[in-house]
Amino acid sequence: MSVRAPDLRAEAIAINAEPWDPLPGMEKRRCPVCAYLYASQPERAEQRCHTCVVRGREVPGYAEAGVNDDPPT
Ligand SMILES: [Zn+2]
Repeated sequence: MSVRAPDLRAEAIAINAEPWDPLPGMEKRRCPVCAYLYASQPERAEQRCHTCVVRGREVPGYAEAGVNDDPPT
């Protein structure tokens, strides 16, 4: 299992406590960093939630797996 900050996980669980469905044309995804459930466009390659992208949180093993679509230049 990956290492996750307990506070982030608790926050995600609290936010996602109520069931919800994504908008039409969107799909429901779970952020691999903080476990937050969010809606995303199906063709979007980024698997992290908006918050993790903005804060620059990386998925453990994400780059090593060769699926990092936004490598540093
Ligand atoms: Zn996240």
